[in-house]
Amino acid sequence: MTEEGLNRIAGGLGIAVPTAYRELMFARGEEFRASQLGSYLWARANEVIIENLRERDPRCSLYDPYPRWWKEYFLIGTDDDNDYFCLRLDDPAVYKIGSDDSGPEKLAESLAAFLNTELIEPRLATPTKYACACCSCLTVLRGKKHSGCCPVCWWQEDGRSEADADQFIGEFEWGDISLTQARANYKSFGVFSEEYKGFVRAPKPEELPRS
Ligand SMILES: [Zn+2]
Repeated sequence: MTEEGLNRIAGGLGIAVPTAYRELMFARGEEFRASQLGSYLWARANEVIIENLRERDPRCSLYDPYPRWWKEYFLIGTDDDNDYFCLRLDDPAVYKIGSDDSGPEKLAESLAAFLNTELIEPRLATPTKYACACCSCLTVLRGKKHSGCCPVCWWQEDGRSEADADQFIGEFEWGDISLTQARANYKSFGVFSEEYKGFVRAPKPEELPRS
């Protein structure tokens, strides 16, 4: 981002743009813009101005929980849930605010720390995969509400433990099949239930079960 762009933000929004933000965007704005980080941390001056002005409109999502939020915050980007990353105008920490009124969430003590812990590291790290309950291949992403079907056996993680491996759980969306039966099916014909035979693929080398 150029000096001119940063001045345009200050003028357009009527705020003193925080120094740490100025320095960071001046030095690395172009790099962010060219990378996927640009979709989380706005890297164009016009985008910053438009997004900030738009959210000042009483019809927009921030107005109800944070009326006149712009007296306190400066929006710098957005996350996958349509919440906003922002700086407070009077302190160096980075916060998240959104349309629910759970209050601002402090994400990091500084813009530099925010960049590393919230934006860069999580997107560079390879997600840890866990063993599928049915085929034991390393295909399951935990911590996701809906981790999808295992590509190797098509079992869907539904929270069943070893203790209920023999149980038939009615709420399982594809009808009643016990985990024990699903494992036996996988051993016999390579899929947890024969009707999903066309959906599965062989495990990749990095997905092979740990012995
Ligand atoms: Zn599996």
